Parts: sequence; C-alpha cells; structure tokens
Amino acid sequence: MIQLPSAETLRDQILYHLTHTQGRGEEFATTFDWRLAVSYTIRDLIVTPWMSALRSSRDQGAKRVYYLSMEFLIGRILGDAIINLRLDDAMDEALEMLGLDKQEILDDEPDAALGNGGLGRLAACFMESLSSLRCPAFGYGIRYEHGLFRQRFEAGQQVETPEDWLNQPHPWEFVRLDYSFTIGFKGHVEQVDGRAVWHPSESVIARAYDTPVVGWKGEWANTLRLWGAHPTTLFDLHRFNAGDYAAAAEPEALARTISRVLYPDDGTESGKELRLKQEYFLTAAALQDILRRFLAEHDDLRMLPDKVAIQLNDTHPAIAGPELMRILMDDHGMGFAEARDIAKGTMNYTNHTLLPEALERWSTWLMGRVLPRHMQIIQMIDEDHRKTSGRPDHVGIIQHDQVQMGELAFIMAGRVNGVSALHTDLVKSTVFADLHKLHPDRIVNETNGVTPRRWLRMSNPALAGLLDQTIGEGWTGDLDQLKQLESHADDPAFRERLRGAKRANKVWLSDGVLAGLGMKVDPDAIFDVQIKRIHEYKRQLLNILEAIALWRRIHDDPNGDWTPRVKIFGGKAAPGYWLAKTVIHLINDVAAKINTDPVTRDLLQIAYPPNYNVSMAEDLIPAADLSEQISTAGKEASGTGNMKFTMNGALTIGTLDGANVEIRELVGPENFFLFGLTTDEADKARAKPGHARAAIEASDDLKAALHLIAEGRFGRPDPYYALLDRTWNDDPFLVASDFDDYFATQRKVDAAYRDQAGWDRMATLNIARSGFFSSDRTIRGYMNDIWHVQPMGL
Ligand SMILES: *Cc1c(COP(=O)(O)O)cnc(C)c1O
Repeated sequence: MIQLPSAETLRDQILYHLTHTQGRGEEFATTFDWRLAVSYTIRDLIVTPWMSALRSSRDQGAKRVYYLSMEFLIGRILGDAIINLRLDDAMDEALEMLGLDKQEILDDEPDAALGNGGLGRLAACFMESLSSLRCPAFGYGIRYEHGLFRQRFEAGQQVETPEDWLNQPHPWEFVRLDYSFTIGFKGHVEQVDGRAVWHPSESVIARAYDTPVVGWKGEWANTLRLWGAHPTTLFDLHRFNAGDYAAAAEPEALARTISRVLYPDDGTESGKELRLKQEYFLTAAALQDILRRFLAEHDDLRMLPDKVAIQLNDTHPAIAGPELMRILMDDHGMGFAEARDIAKGTMNYTNHTLLPEALERWSTWLMGRVLPRHMQIIQMIDEDHRKTSGRPDHVGIIQHDQVQMGELAFIMAGRVNGVSALHTDLVKSTVFADLHKLHPDRIVNETNGVTPRRWLRMSNPALAGLLDQTIGEGWTGDLDQLKQLESHADDPAFRERLRGAKRANKVWLSDGVLAGLGMKVDPDAIFDVQIKRIHEYKRQLLNILEAIALWRRIHDDPNGDWTPRVKIFGGKAAPGYWLAKTVIHLINDVAAKINTDPVTRDLLQIAYPPNYNVSMAEDLIPAADLSEQISTAGKEASGTGNMKFTMNGALTIGTLDGANVEIRELVGPENFFLFGLTTDEADKARAKPGHARAAIEASDDLKAALHLIAEGRFGRPDPYYALLDRTWNDDPFLVASDFDDYFATQRKVDAAYRDQAGWDRMATLNIARSGFFSSDRTIRGYMNDIWHVQPMGL
C-alpha cells in the first residue's frame, strides 16, 4: 500500500515548489505558477513508484511491452494523476487552505494533443491501463512541438491555427540527454565483405523525453518516451562567422522539422516524404533504445522474442520489421531467415481501418530514396514470402511500384489484431482475406476499451460518487463490478439519484461551455451528442439533416407533443478534407437559423463548440443523454467514444457498426436504439444504381430537408451544391438509404425520454453492463493472446 500524504503535507509541498522550483513568492504567483507548483508536488509522488517499477522490471529481467504509436492523444495530465494517486480529497483541502480554485488550476493546463482522434486516444488509454495492471511497458512516440491544430469558426467555417502546448514549460517530462540516437536517411548502400553497409547522407539526433504514466492507486508507473529531433551539428560556425546567419542555422531547421508537427490527417493517406521520415524516425529511435536495453540485460539476440513484445499501432511504424532485420543482419551478422524469425517473434500489428483511402502505401522510388537499405530488405521479405507461402500473384507487399504497409506489417507480425469483433471478421474477409487464408492463426480480435479512471471517475464525479455509495469503490480498478448496479435498475430512489447526477452535469455544461457560446438551453431537454472527427463515414450529415427535418415538422405543428432537444456537435475536419469542412459549415449555418427561430427555439437547439479535444469530451460526455454512433455499417473499426458514453449512462442511437455491435449485445437490445442497414445490406444498397435518388424520392422528410438547403433557407446555398449533388447522385455512405429509419428511431427516442422511469432504468442497465469496455480488459487480452507477459508483483 502507498502511504498517502495529508492535506497539510500537500500544502507544504506546493508552497515549497512554488518558492524553490518555480521561483515565485506567494504574493506574486499567477495561476500558471500555482499549477506548476501543484504539478511538481504530484510528480514527486509518481517518481517513487516509477523508479521502483523500472528497477524491479530490470532486476527480474522481465519481458517488456513496447507500444509504438505515431499518436498519443493524452489530454491533461494533472487531474488524472491526482485521481490515480487517490489524492482528490486531500488536494481539495490543500488548495482550499491556500485559497486556490482547483478548477481554475486544472483548466490552466494545455491539452497534450499529440494525436488526431480514436487511434491516439486508444494509445493513451492503453498506457494508463498498462500501468494500472503493472505490466512493464514503454510507449514510444514523437514529441511534436505542435499537436493537432486549434479549430475556430469564422462565418461558420473551420479555420485552423497552430497549437502551441510547448510554448510554456511542460512540468511532466524529463529530458534524457544521455539517451540520444543518430537516425539516418537517404544515401547509398555498399557491399563490404558480403555485408551491406548503409551510408546515410542525412542524419538527425533523436532525444528522449520521458513522461511517467501512473496507474490506478499509484502503485506502478510506466514510461511514455517521446522522441524530439535535434541537429547532429548545432550550426555551421564557418558560415556564421562569414555572416551567413540563415544558412548557418540550416541543419537545425532541417532536423527540427521532423518533430515539428503532427500530421492532421485522420483516415486519409498523406503520402509525404516528411511523414515517411517521421515514421522512420520514431521507429528507428525506438528500436535502438529497445536493443540497448535488451543488450544491457542479455547477450543473445535470439532471446529477443522472449524478452520483447513490440506492438505497432496501425501501419505507421511498420518499417520496424525491416529496420529490426537490418540491424540483426547488417550490424550483427545474422542470416536472413534467422533475422526474419526473430523479428516476427517480436512484432505484432493492430489494424485500425478498412477504408481503402486510409491504407498506407509508399511508392518504391520514395521508399528507395529515403530508406535505400530498407527498400532492399522489403524486396527480400516479399520474395521470401512469395516462395515460402505459395501465395497467388496478386498478393504481396509490393504491387504496382507501391509498398503496401499493411501487407508488410501483416507478413512481419506474429499476431495481427482487429479492434472489435465485427471489424476483425471484416479484416479476415476483406483487406487481408488472402493473407488470412495463408496464415489462418495470425489474426485475433482485441476489442478496444477506455480507461474508467479518466472517463468515469475523473470526468464524472457526480456519477462516480453515486457509484461509490451504491456499490463501493472497487469498480474503478475492476469495472465488471458495475454489474452490481443491475439490481438497482428497478429502485426508484436510485434512479432518482442517477437522474440528479445527470442533471447536475447538464447544468454544469449549460452554464459553462454552452453559455460560453451565448446559448441558453433547457437542462431538461434531451442532450443529444455527436462528438468525433468529421468524416463522411461517421455521417454528421445524417444528423444535421435529421435536425432540419425535425425543425420543419415542428414548424408544421408547433403545438404538437414534442420532446425538447439540444443537439450538440463537436469535431475537427482534416484541413484538406473539403467535404468534411462543408459539413461543418452546414451545421453552423443550420444552427444559426434554428437557434434564432422563435417558433422552435424552445424545442430544438443546435450547439457546436469549436476545438473539440479530450478536455471537451470530458465535459460533454457526462452531460449526454443520447450518444450518436451512426456511421455507415462496416466503416467504423471500433469506436471508443461509444464506450465512454455508455459508461456515463447515455443511451446510444446507432448502427450495427464497430463495437456498437458488442455494446448492444451486452447492454441488451431493448436498451439500445438500433437503426440502419447492416454491413451486407449496405454493400448491396451501394451496388444499386440510383440508390440515393430512389431513397430521397421515397422520403418526404429527407427530400424537404435537402430542398430547404438548396433554397437558401440556411444562408447562401452555393457552398452546398456539391454536397447536395453528392447526396442525390453518389452517396457512398448511404445517408439517404438510412435516413427514414434514423428519423423514425429518433422519434422513438423522444417517446422513451418522456418516460423518465423507463429511461433511467435503461441508463442504469447501460452503466451496469459497460464493464467489458474498460481498457484493462483489452490490455489483459493483449497480454494473454499476443504479448505473453504477466503482471509484475510489487
Ligand atoms: C474518444 C475520443 C475520440 C474517438 O471518438 P470516436 O467517437 O470513437 O471516433 C476522438 N477524439 C477524442 C478527443 C476522444 O476523446
């Protein structure tokens, strides 16, 4: 057991750090100074379990897990660390003694937005669960100077501005000057005495920046090691002395570019040389570090698969396979077959998408220019696989002068996993159907999860408190204990308290985020929330078209028996994704019109707070009644937002897509608002010529909604002609085909919400049956099925 400091001790430590670390007197301290002093106080308490975790892993020669990810969407750290150390009460008291406002201090921390969406947030939840489960692990990523762009709306349109979280000291990281590795690019390959020698023509230094990630109860902490790029030579003194200052700084500028920005693409392939360099930079630095640690503890590289499990989060770090083989062959003199087997025994790959436009491919000439030796090894791997597998001709890594990173990752992996039951089935039957036939045991499923510490205990104190009082605190570390709530679903007193907690969260959101938008909303209306990246397959368009159709119906019958509703949207579009940006514009235009309509104002409102991020999700999800998970069936690999909502007692309106399928099975079909085509039906509908036009002609509501946009009822229509045209004539994501069922199901939601007892009963059962979606369960699955590692004792 960890000895918890008292409130007085915390207060004294905060004052100590304010003076001695931050160098400020109390009377001069700003919120920022206090926040850093509080952060250092908490960090001190994490360092102790962190050091002992590192020490015991080394002393026991433990097998380590290495999670390689181009994205870690961490969010704020302080509040989560306080919760995991179970210091929330003591800290409240300490801050009160100091006369400080806790919320103001927590809100002062910028979000670490080193990711785009679900994939990066999954990596962050995994880091927390790995520590909570005492699994020895490192996360490896890039320390982007600028995380995901900041989003503003101007005249309803998305405007991107740079994000600058590192423009201020970051109190959670430790820079490791001694862990610096040289990373090469380009150049040529020479054969010397039968061995290949790569002579890179460019190089940068990868420097480690470590952030400890503490698990639940503060017993264990793992390391998130982010690499920053630095120049190999600081600057060209020669040129500087000659007065050419710009040229003198060139090496520095070149290197820094690599860890400068996060690519803001989500689900589209960027195909840029810089992106490939970033991917190699992360992977090569991670592998050098992994091998350095391994060789400090062992001397036989053939033991690597027994001591190292590498997980590739999507194909972004898939160059790890060829890189590890290059090191084993070129630096350690191993033969091809042995190097291949060791690499395959060490490496595993998680597939996150079936969308063809999101599958990474690099032209052989770009790969050959940036990584000439790796291109050779990729050709050797491909040829070897062709020979040993007896595969058909159309299967392989290199196709039409393109290196297909998915195929490379698959062939070099011991295990390949999908991220929900449905997705894994589709991985087997679509993208990797041929490879699955050749390697039928390789693909496994590990349904995603989210950490209940951040997504329930921290972000929803009202509900967490009610759960503690009703079933005890054990659920936080063992989410299956939520099952005990089932017996309270029919208890009116419990349901009353659950409703009270939800209402308090809705009032908090209304007085905060929504009031900040100049909106005044009714906290007893349904809070209907769709927050996620803006993407055609996620179908925010379906949602806003439903709003238009509902608005029109209310207008036709203003005194009808309507259920008041506040629709809330949140999400960013990739800067180059023009259609997604048009949808944002449309939502804002429709909101501007509907929110000022005196006839409907009390019944329907639309809110779209800009700059959706982790912190905003933490505010919105606890206040949601209805969770919109309405992607076209077969397109969302898993979703994790859907799980966060379920845990927080929102009911889902959703399609049979991704993990929605498992959510519905677990909470019970009667507690889930299902609509829409299945994956098979969607594939068939899409194949029918004129499917969209036929569906629109058959639907008065949809046709009217589209006409209202075209008529200019929501501002000038010209920005929307292309979107309308696509909806009528192409509609690959089947907005039209699913519209009527969606609209009708929303009316069932209206009716269900008016039955308070019934709704609260359903909400209770959703919470009670959400235990499966803890990322602790997911990580246990990876530990057992993929990594073969055990939790460490203390
Ligand atoms: C959970 C989360 C996501 C993923 O949401 P989906 O609905 O699964 O796409 C994206 N962004 C943020 C900030 C999140 O917290």
